[in-house]
Amino acid sequence: MTIKIAVVGGGVAGLSAAYFLAKNGAEVNVFEQKYLLYGASGRNSGGLTAQFRNEALIKLALRSLELYNKLQSETGFNFLLRRDGYVKIANEEMANVLEEEVEIQRGAGVNVKIVDPDFVKSLFPDINVNAFSIASYFADGGVVFPWPVVWGLAKGCRELGVNVYDYTPVKVEVKGNEVVGVKANDELHKADYVINAAGAWSNEISRQAGIELNNKVFKEEICVTESLKPYLDPYILDVSTNVYISQSMRGEIVGGIVGSETTDINVKSSLDFLTNYAKRVVELVPKLRGMSILRQWAGVYDLEKDGLPVIGPTKVKGFIQLNGFGRNGMSTAPAAGEALAEYILKGRSKILESLI
Ligand SMILES: Cc1cc2nc3c(=O)[nH]c(=O)nc-3n(C[C@H](O)[C@H](O)[C@H](O)COP(=O)(O)OP(=O)(O)OC[C@H]3O[C@@H](n4cnc5c(N)ncnc54)[C@H](O)[C@@H]3O)c2cc1C
Repeated sequence: MTIKIAVVGGGVAGLSAAYFLAKNGAEVNVFEQKYLLYGASGRNSGGLTAQFRNEALIKLALRSLELYNKLQSETGFNFLLRRDGYVKIANEEMANVLEEEVEIQRGAGVNVKIVDPDFVKSLFPDINVNAFSIASYFADGGVVFPWPVVWGLAKGCRELGVNVYDYTPVKVEVKGNEVVGVKANDELHKADYVINAAGAWSNEISRQAGIELNNKVFKEEICVTESLKPYLDPYILDVSTNVYISQSMRGEIVGGIVGSETTDINVKSSLDFLTNYAKRVVELVPKLRGMSILRQWAGVYDLEKDGLPVIGPTKVKGFIQLNGFGRNGMSTAPAAGEALAEYILKGRSKILESLI
């Protein structure tokens, strides 16, 4: 009998799960409340790294890096993937944080190393070496353009027979202690499993199934400058100031400040962000002073208190969590989607062992 799945949320998590479920024979519907890039998956900076402190997260990130190549060829979509490295920099105060996590990462098989400011300058000559004292360098990391990732996954899903409904908010329907499906526009779409991949809205979806999920919501603002000649290859994140920058293939400097917790889910931009970002980024890269900002925007994401994604079954039969990716969903969600599909269809997944 074919297994029927309803996925709530058309972001990288929901679409990845849908893709691998459909590829392995399930009948899948994906429901997105607005347009496909509305969630964090359409608003992020596309940095790909495995520089995490948790082994399970690291494994998901390493597998996701492999999957990006595979998914590009399987879906015939160019994600504008660049593997030019991911650099985390820190001041003296935070140096031990980087050193400690590099130990964990190397132990988990990540090709990462501690480097000095001059090494970072050799990668990006405009960086101010006095603005930090240490860095960790993951040569295999990089950047994707999030829009084609979402579009490509949606295309791949549709080609496998998945219905991807946009502008279709849904409510979870439960009978007794079991999901029956989701309701959209008063129509019940029956399903054996409902996957909660609703990102910042996951607490609400979970509540509909009668399950308390206490993911915290974070809002992050970001902007792009006018184009410069391509000269910044890696993604750079300053863990002391929370500022990050990379360069898009169009030459724009894409940058922002790592998000902070909010109780109000909105994607409004602010002047405050621009002022703070400009101050911090000019300290890091003095040559950016005077550059025009072309666009700014914001996104929201969810994070559980221990910082790990929430993946797997719940006490309501058929109601499955796939959320809490925080600021790492582009780096980790493709593999999480693949692993969850395996777990649902085969009853096990090695990579999820310590998370479920
Ligand atoms: C500015 C910014 C920068 C970031 N930079 C990075 C980065 O460099 N690297 C990285 O790895 N990650 C980054 N992230 C985080 C990353 O974007 C997220 O972790 C990831 O996109 C989460 O994917 P998701 O599918 O779980 O959630 P989302 O993409 O938010 O998808 C959830 C979807 O569910 C939909 N939904 C909600 N309620 C309903 C409902 N009732 N019915 C139907 N649909 C519903 C929403 O509309 C939404 O589209 C960044 C995020 C932001 C905002």
